[in-house]
Amino acid sequence: MASDADHEHEHVHESVDDAVDARDDWARRRRKGIPTNEQLLVVACMDERIPVEEALGLELGDAQVFRNAGGKVTDDVIRSAALTTNFFDTTEIVVVNHTDCGMMSASDEAVVEGLEAQAEAAGADLDEVDLDPAIPDLDIGDASVAEWVKMTDDIDEACAAQVAYLEDHELVPDDVTVTGYVYEVESGELRRPGERVAEEISERRA
Ligand code: ZN
Repeated sequence: MASDADHEHEHVHESVDDAVDARDDWARRRRKGIPTNEQLLVVACMDERIPVEEALGLELGDAQVFRNAGGKVTDDVIRSAALTTNFFDTTEIVVVNHTDCGMMSASDEAVVEGLEAQAEAAGADLDEVDLDPAIPDLDIGDASVAEWVKMTDDIDEACAAQVAYLEDHELVPDDVTVTGYVYEVESGELRRPGERVAEEISERRA
């Protein structure tokens, strides 16, 4: 008597072929134009306390992840976002900033002084240091060192600003969705910028 199991019987080579095809897609996904599984770019702070993939529920292959000091939209975030959204079918960007970020740990003046001292020790002027060794024309010049470093007073405001920078940028297509979250190192949870629930519910109502 034929059972359903017999009817649906799969030859071994079929499952092996599926695995071989999947591996081929994985290895040649760039050549085949296969985007990340979630068509997602994540921009996050480099802080070692943020488990970016775990916090967003991502697996290997789901997203491209760009991490830098502060999770700030720098020129290289724009470069990377422009390339992946225009040439790699990325349709979503998520920015992850976090509480107790190192970017809030010192004043602009202290950081600028520290970098100036480092440049001086190396026999250079901070305004003339190469920002990109391949593009010697790119230096701080007359721009503000503090604005380049991007220290932060308020992480929620900073997060909302990074989202706006990406949303408004001419090299990021308009139909790309950009969202930001603040990861709370104290609770291990994400919050939307501006929604400081823990603070609100532990303060007396005005
Ligand atoms: Zn940080």
